[in-house]
Amino acid sequence: MSGCLFCKIIAQQIPSSKVYEDDYTFAFNDINPQAPVHILLVPKIHFAGVHEVTSDNVYIIKKLFDTVSVIVMQKGLAENGYRLVVNFGETAGQTVPHIHIHILSGREMRWPPG
Ligand code: AMP
Ligand code: ZN
Repeated sequence: MSGCLFCKIIAQQIPSSKVYEDDYTFAFNDINPQAPVHILLVPKIHFAGVHEVTSDNVYIIKKLFDTVSVIVMQKGLAENGYRLVVNFGETAGQTVPHIHIHILSGREMRWPPG
């Protein structure tokens, strides 16, 4: 989607610190990390939230979790734990309206999140 920051990162019109890419997904380091490991994982197709998934594009959810698995294994995150976060809407803290999974690891996490 034109004007979308993450679409521009995926298209490499804006530079990012790429962690992983395949035909469906793209992952890069968060510019303002909230943990020693803070990776953003996005689908290459633009949509804002999980509730916008339809039977036509639900395959992308599996692709995203396949990539979570790849990154977790490649970075060895399972041993000490990791957290996945998906914000939707301003109240929940979403600032970029292109769905993304935050992969956070490398420090103790608290609950509930702020
Ligand atoms: P959210 O607040 O859930 O929408 O997450 C958006 C995330 O994008 C934040 O954690 C930002 O630090 C991150 N972010 C914003 N701009 C960039 C960028 N150019 N490269 C990498 N991460 C970014
Ligand atoms: Zn987008």
